[in-house]
Amino acid sequence: MRLDKFLAEVGLGSRKEVKQLIKKGQITVNQQIEKSDKRQVNPEKDRIEFQEEVLHYQEYYYYLLHKPAGVVSATEDNRDQTVMDLFSAKDYRSDLFPVGRLDKDTEGLLLITNDGKLAHELLSPKKHVEKEYLAEVSGVMTDDDQKQFTEGIVLDGELTLPAELFIAEVTEETSVVRIILHEGKFHQVKRMVKACGKEVTYLKRIRMGDLTLPKALNKGTYRPLTEEELRMLK
Ligand code: URA
Repeated sequence: MRLDKFLAEVGLGSRKEVKQLIKKGQITVNQQIEKSDKRQVNPEKDRIEFQEEVLHYQEYYYYLLHKPAGVVSATEDNRDQTVMDLFSAKDYRSDLFPVGRLDKDTEGLLLITNDGKLAHELLSPKKHVEKEYLAEVSGVMTDDDQKQFTEGIVLDGELTLPAELFIAEVTEETSVVRIILHEGKFHQVKRMVKACGKEVTYLKRIRMGDLTLPKALNKGTYRPLTEEELRMLK
């Protein structure tokens, strides 16, 4: 890889900015000042330094974000704040994107990465990666609703895969439920609940596959996946 590309990739600046650093003799490759931005480097083998600090190249990034309500699951939007706007300048990269979507008013676990292959696998309908939600519902969810979820529900003429509905709490007018889906259709939780004649008033995703939303991760914040979490996902 070219030296200027490497430096931009590790976050030292834009391609133009890093070219300036090279020109000024501020970059060393294997302890020799390197003034050519075209120099080919091997990130695994060459020791590349800026201000005596060794720069480490990482190809893929994986973050677990606790999405708050009010932001959209997109990389850019003209009207709304996006999940990428929650990233600090230090961690932001233009190739990061959210894996799948949560509605603007849905909270919870969202994986952010630049690994297109992993994203594709996690979203593939063939993989049936489980997604678990906590929902507050206006109306009383019943055993009959539970049965409907298990059998699948017709949404716009298409039968959903069997899903699981666990009723955690009910009052005279409301319910708190846990729902596990094995696919990701548009507004699926809200539409399945609506098909049972009730309405979701609050929705939070708490799990995707083996990845669980950590209790300690505050709304609007993110952290890199641990090695173990990454291993479980792959
Ligand atoms: N189902 C929904 O209805 N909304 C979401 O954001 C996710 C699943």
